Order: sequence, then structure tokens, then C-alpha cells
Amino acid sequence: MKIGIVGAGWNGSHCALELMSAGHQVVLLEKHPDIFQGVSGDFGIRLHKGPHYPRSKTTRDSCLEVFDRFCATYPELVVAHDSAIYAQGTTDALGLRSKVSNDTFAKVCHESPECSEVDMSAKGLEALEAAFNLDEPSVVLGDRLRRFFLDKLAVVGVQVQTGFIVEKIIRSAGQSLVYRDDGSCLAFDLVINTTGFQSLLPAFFERDFPFEVEVVYQPCLALCYEDQQPSEKPLSFIVMDGWFPCLMPAVTTHEPYPADYILTHGSYTIMGSFSTAREADALLEELTDDFIESTVKALTEAQMCRFWRGFLQRFHYAGWKGAVLAKLKTRSEFRSAITFEQDGVIYVFPGKVSNVFNAADEVLALIANQRCIDQNGFRYVENGVLDIARREIQQKPGAGEESTCNLQTYSVLRGQKDAC
Ligand SMILES: Cc1cc2nc3c(=O)[nH]c(=O)nc-3n(C[C@H](O)[C@H](O)[C@H](O)COP(=O)(O)OP(=O)(O)OC[C@H]3O[C@@H](n4cnc5c(N)ncnc54)[C@H](O)[C@@H]3O)c2cc1C
Repeated sequence: MKIGIVGAGWNGSHCALELMSAGHQVVLLEKHPDIFQGVSGDFGIRLHKGPHYPRSKTTRDSCLEVFDRFCATYPELVVAHDSAIYAQGTTDALGLRSKVSNDTFAKVCHESPECSEVDMSAKGLEALEAAFNLDEPSVVLGDRLRRFFLDKLAVVGVQVQTGFIVEKIIRSAGQSLVYRDDGSCLAFDLVINTTGFQSLLPAFFERDFPFEVEVVYQPCLALCYEDQQPSEKPLSFIVMDGWFPCLMPAVTTHEPYPADYILTHGSYTIMGSFSTAREADALLEELTDDFIESTVKALTEAQMCRFWRGFLQRFHYAGWKGAVLAKLKTRSEFRSAITFEQDGVIYVFPGKVSNVFNAADEVLALIANQRCIDQNGFRYVENGVLDIARREIQQKPGAGEESTCNLQTYSVLRGQKDAC
């Protein structure tokens, strides 16, 4: 088949490689001047083993299921850590106890067999119930990731067209016609939409989809830091489960002793929750250095220092970056990729980076029409992620329930700042 893929982040690029090896002819279309310029180039960081999702067994299972596959397929992109600590905080930024019990947290961490308990005082950590060290690596970001995929795509013969903004896709006479913003058009047997579910969306998605789904678009921030005492291998420190901080390395080059890190926080990373990507983009545009440094940075650092008092002696602030992420609104914080087809276009709703394997497997099954369920004009794979998780996906947080899906952090912080 001649297949067009729209969007060259992790999902589009990995899918292009898989489709080429299955014998298809593939053209990868990207609106930016280079590939991996969206969220994938800046934000896919941990190669998750699962404990970040203690309330979603489906998400944890899918992390473990694809972990080994990711390491075997992309060993050059996997960065081993000196330590990868998952800790359970006593209370979060709202003064609430962790959303899971100590037993559940320990059990979830021990789903990775190498998990070992951390001596918290030896590491200068405090205000924690427990801490565990896992062999959880990071995924390479930025230029190193971009160059890797450009080479790989060229070797297998994927045609990459950058600076190609797709404006619309029309199905006509058994072909999918992809229209560029300059009015020109390419014809494919099939198109795959890997735009992070941010553009060219399926018609009447929330109304007609076989299950009750709700999508939120969230402008997200990451604060960047430089490690003043970098060691040969990086570290990560993630406090759970609720409104807690998360420190991860951002490895973008082949240099030894990686010093770049990203700090996020359950309460101060997601700036808002919107029903369209456009509204989320607009908020991201509005953010200023002054606002971030005087509010978000100050609050996030104060929270981090509750658990690691020496943090600011070792890590120095170096700026911030932002991106919009599409998320399914679920009570359990479900975060795997889901894949389905409507009217000649296969859509990949992003999960975590390692879920590119689930998505590509399901794209291939949909193309071959193997084990597919057809409902309300949508096709998806029987026993695929969507089929297995459909119950979980339909369970939404209740009115007034604290959930990352409802956050309106920018308006709240702005209001507090103005009041001062
Ligand atoms: C703060 C934060 C932390 C995260 N941490 C982790 C983590 O630790 N581990 C993990 O696994 N994941 C993490 N993620 C999630 C992960 O980064 C994303 O899910 C993943 O990168 C999505 O990849 P994608 O290819 O689907 O989307 P993208 O990378 O967004 O790619 C979509 C591409 O489509 C292009 N595009 C859009 N519209 C058009 C159009 N009309 N025409 C042509 N091109 C178009 C865009 O330019 C973009 O390049 C994190 C995300 C955030 C925001």
C-alpha cells in the first residue's frame, strides 16, 4: 500500500519504520522544518516500567509489556541511570496523603523484580514514607534523537517531507487525498494521523465514538536545571502519588556526564485543561518568563526541597519549555496509546513513548483487517489497548474530584498573583 503518515514525532517515525519493514511504501509528512520538533523532541523522558501509574493496572501492564521490546529495538536511545528513585511522599502540595496505600505503592514498585529499598537519610531525602530504586532508564531527546531517526528513516527508504502542513484529508474513490496548505495534494491508499491527536481530528469524535470518551488538551511546562555535580550516569527522583515533584534527566547529546534535567510537579506543570488544542496553544503563548519564574518555579522548588533539602545546592535553574499534550479524561490516569480507524484514516492517540509499539502493532492489524471490531463507523482491534481498557476509559473523575484532567493552574496562580 502507499501510506501517508502525518506527524513525525515518536509515533509517526516509529510507525513509518514498521510499515516499511512490512513492505508498504511510506511518506512521512511533518509541518515543522525538522522531525521531532513537537512534544516527542522535548518531553518523552522516562522509559516507564509502570510505578508512575499505581492506579492504572492497564497502563502498568502495557509499560512492562513493551519495555524489553523498546530496549531491544532502540538500544542507542536508552540511557541507563545511576539511580531511578520512586518515593512515596507523606503529604503532597495540598497537604493530602498519597492516593495509594504504602502497601500498594511497595507492591507496584516490586512489579519490577530488581526493585530495592533506598536508605533515605543516606541520600538526604525526607518527608517520605518509603523510597525504592528501580532500573528505569530514560529515553534520549532533542538533536541526538532527531539525527538517529533521520538516519534510520533514510536507510529504509521512508520519504520524509518537512515543512509540509496538512490542512485536510478527504476520502474519495478509495483513496485518501492529503491537501497541503498551499493547495497541492497527495493521494494515498491510507493515511495515518500521528499528530498527537492535535489536528485533522475524526468527525464528531466524542459524539459518535463507540464508548464515552472525553479529550482534554493541556499546556504543560517543564523547568530546566543544570546539575552542578553530574556523574557518569544520570539520576531520577519521582515522588508519588498525587501533587508531588518529579526530576528527570534530559539527555540530548552523546557527551558523558549528562548535566541537563527537567523538573515537573503534579500541581504546577499542567497550566490548564481545554477542549481544543487551539485554546491550549493560546495559553502556552501567553506564558512569560516573569510569571514562570516568580510563581511556578518558586512553588515547584519549594515543594522539591521538602523532600530533597539539598536540591538547590546541586541543581541550578536554566529556563523552561512548554508543549500541549492531548489526554483522555479518566479517573485512573490511564496513559497508554489508543489506535482506531475512521473513514480511511487511522488515528493514534498518544500515550507514553514506549506505547509506539502497541500503536504500530494495531495499525498493522487494522491494515490487514485482522481481529477488528466495527462500531458506529470506527474500527479498532479486538483485544487491543482500546478494547481492553474501554471500561477504564469511560470512568471519569466525579464533579469536584481532584484530578490532573481538570487542572486550571494558570488561572488560579494568576488570580493569586494579581491579588498580591
Ligand atoms: C511534561 C511531559 C512529560 C512527559 N514525560 C514522559 C515520560 O517521562 N515518558 C514517556 O514515555 N512519555 C512522556 N510524555 C509523553 C510523550 O512525550 C508523548 O506522549 C509522545 O512524545 C507523543 O508522541 P507523538 O508522536 O504522538 O506526538 P508528537 O511528538 O506531538 O508528534 C506529532 C507531530 O505531528 C506534527 N503535526 C501536527 N499537526 C500537523 C499537520 N497538520 N501537518 C503536519 N504535521 C503535523 C507536529 O508538528 C509533531 O511533530 C511526557 C509529555 C509531557 C508533556
